[in-house]
Amino acid sequence: MTDDLETPRRPEPGELNFTSPERRGKPPRHLADLTALQRRELVAGLGLPAFRADQVSRQYFHRLADDPASWSDVPASLRDDLAAALTPPLMSVVNERTADGGLTRKVLWRLFDGALIESVLMRYPERVTMCVSSQAGCGMNCPFCATGQSGLTRNLSTAEIVEQVMAGARELARGEVPGGPGRVSNVVFMGMGEPMANYDAVLSAVHRLVDKSPEGLGMSARGITVSTVGLVPRMRQLATEGLPVTLALSLHAPDDDLRDTLVPVNTRWKVAEVLDAAWEYARTTNRRVSIEYALIKDVNDQAWRADLLGKRLRGKLVHVNLIPLNPTPGSKWTASRPQDEREFVRRLEMAGVQVTVRDTRGREIDGACGQLAAAE
Ligand code: SAH
Repeated sequence: MTDDLETPRRPEPGELNFTSPERRGKPPRHLADLTALQRRELVAGLGLPAFRADQVSRQYFHRLADDPASWSDVPASLRDDLAAALTPPLMSVVNERTADGGLTRKVLWRLFDGALIESVLMRYPERVTMCVSSQAGCGMNCPFCATGQSGLTRNLSTAEIVEQVMAGARELARGEVPGGPGRVSNVVFMGMGEPMANYDAVLSAVHRLVDKSPEGLGMSARGITVSTVGLVPRMRQLATEGLPVTLALSLHAPDDDLRDTLVPVNTRWKVAEVLDAAWEYARTTNRRVSIEYALIKDVNDQAWRADLLGKRLRGKLVHVNLIPLNPTPGSKWTASRPQDEREFVRRLEMAGVQVTVRDTRGREIDGACGQLAAAE
């Protein structure tokens, strides 16, 4: 099946790609692509009672039962037809790699057309976070990110995004993750892709995750984080959706000169504009915005940049997440020296800005921030 899918060209420095290439065929339509009403209409169209759609939805979202043979409330004679219409296979596991004694698990998935994506489950004492992909590849071309360097293959469908979370939820429910049966408490759109460049599918996916069963999984919106390079019009749009998700902004530099090179989309929307959109998001939703800042040795970790960052963030509803740079193939950059990292933190704190250094998981399985490249 992989012949269908040409490998995207490696982007030139600074080149941006906002549109998913047109491809032959769409991902299979799945109940997670549809509202509960649309599912009922679909089932009625098959000549079956509409309530069967709710039963199958409950099996999928609530009982986490993906095997039609176990749908005991559905007559055995209908299970295969309903499964074909509502829960067709969307992706298959190429491999699963684990770290931290099984508490960090990266799955490489093959989609219907051969496209490859990755998702990462991270279990902590108090929460389980699923890091999901919103696109196969990414068109934003950040030079320090392995996904950005591989180019954009295509947008994911809503169900392809939701199914990554559901696969993690099923693993946890079955007790396959050390620590006993559990649930997904957090979802971060920090896997492959730029979520705001696949806005409609991402927004529907958030609805499916938040809506109550049988409509969806019934998670709290507060447990969901959408991370962006800073597509300003989409950030402003997200603020109007009435969904209290956390917005994370990948800033990585407080000044336009450097940010133009680290986050090429900065040539469209400058630091001042992207921060304005972030503050508007905080005002409208009353949610603290998260600023992501990968600390790169001698590139963006100077004391004066910490001061400039502090000045730009001071007094805002904001939290800074410093990420020690994770190594990526072919990159000349490395993480900051410990003393420079400490000084960076100290200066932000002096400016009264809340800051934490991210405890990065999964580096040894190339599952950490910026390392997802989906190679077999
Ligand atoms: N496109 C979105 C979602 C990806 S999130 C975004 O950029 O926000 C992944 C996070 O990891 C982003 O903050 C990204 O900038 C950061 N990142 C990318 N490469 C990294 C690397 N090599 N080391 C540490 N963080 C990295």
